[in-house]
Amino acid sequence: MSRNLELFERGKKSIPGGVNSPVRAFGSVGGNPRFIKKALGARVWDADDQVYLDYVGSWGPAILGHAHPVVIKAVQDAAVDGLSFGAPTEAEIDIAEEICKLLPSIQQVRLVSSGTEATMSAIRLARGYTGRDTIIKFEGCYHGHSDSLLVKAGSGLLTFGNPSSGGVPADFSKHTLVLEYNNVEQLHTTFRELGSQIACVILEPIAGNMNLIQPSAEFIHTLRQLTEQSGTVLIYDEVMTGFRVGLSCAQGLHGITPDLTTLGKVIGGGMPLAAFGGRADIMAKISPLGDVYQAGTLSGNPVAVAAGLSTLKLIQEPGFYSTLSQRTQRLAQGLAAAAKEVGVTMCADSIGGMFGIYFCENIPSSYAQVSQSDRARFNRFFHEMLAEGVYLAPSAYEAGFVSSAHSDEIIEQTIAAAKRALTRL
Ligand SMILES: *Cc1c(COP(=O)(O)O)cnc(C)c1O
Repeated sequence: MSRNLELFERGKKSIPGGVNSPVRAFGSVGGNPRFIKKALGARVWDADDQVYLDYVGSWGPAILGHAHPVVIKAVQDAAVDGLSFGAPTEAEIDIAEEICKLLPSIQQVRLVSSGTEATMSAIRLARGYTGRDTIIKFEGCYHGHSDSLLVKAGSGLLTFGNPSSGGVPADFSKHTLVLEYNNVEQLHTTFRELGSQIACVILEPIAGNMNLIQPSAEFIHTLRQLTEQSGTVLIYDEVMTGFRVGLSCAQGLHGITPDLTTLGKVIGGGMPLAAFGGRADIMAKISPLGDVYQAGTLSGNPVAVAAGLSTLKLIQEPGFYSTLSQRTQRLAQGLAAAAKEVGVTMCADSIGGMFGIYFCENIPSSYAQVSQSDRARFNRFFHEMLAEGVYLAPSAYEAGFVSSAHSDEIIEQTIAAAKRALTRL
């Protein structure tokens, strides 16, 4: 029997669904999840000793590829000096300064341990700062699993959302408005009606949790303008896009200065580290300076900070993002060309080290559009790619990630594998 299968059966006895995060269970693509036992560079090895070219990269953090020797060394060195102190350290200041230097919109930053904590805290801060309760999110954007963000759209325009998860009181979701991504008209209407009541708007400035969806320039600029006019805090959730789409993140690419930014994934280099930061006058509301409470036993953990700092240094090497972007773009174009050649309806898009593949005619621009793509076909493609030794995200609603360890040769190998897989669909 396959060891992967054996582990899944065993895991299900002591862990709900056998996994510690739901998408890992392969629920949407079907089949048995691969249990990873090691990873190096662009590759992961499963419990059956199968090797795969990895395009998940731990869902984003592994921008340098897995187990980069410099990051591993930094982690080892930090670990020897103690795992956690619950007291401030110099390295936390180093990484805070590094983040503030790279992102001018961030004047002050606080470290936390997960993206969920970062967004949850940023929203509490925005509410505390504005004294308003209502928040806006966009359909298809994911911001972690805190109560006020697990909300789906209500039945009509400007009706408040409904919980998208059990265990979330409708009383909480009542404060969350869910709008359509890229819908400029709806932004205008909403701010005209409710602008002065809205504490914050949180968005993925380039969405990566409904496959890859890019915003229009008009959407992005209208949002900044309307939030500014109504005293609403604009939160760029860059947990995924931060140092993934470029060194200046999505905000740099868009030329937008958000009020608050959340970071995670890449800034921890594979360790549990995330952050929220922004305007100093807003950040001054956080305890111990202000009355908005936020804390964490492992916040700014020295081992995680060591991994993050060494990652942030390495991504600043000249040409890092131009090479990464070129390879990612070559992959997306190569996949789309391969599909065209074999007569499969599929298109692809990329930005920085992120890509999307869509089994539909045109690149989607909203959740509704991405939902129209042929998911059954994606699922077959996913399994054919696994058989070819390529590990894609096990869901049609996820973006893919390329690392600096994905050489030109690996990209070409992947395109060739995809061409074979596509002919078998
Ligand atoms: C992954 C992600 C989160 C949640 O981060 P966790 O570390 O998984 O809690 C929040 N926002 C975005 C945009 C993400 O991609």
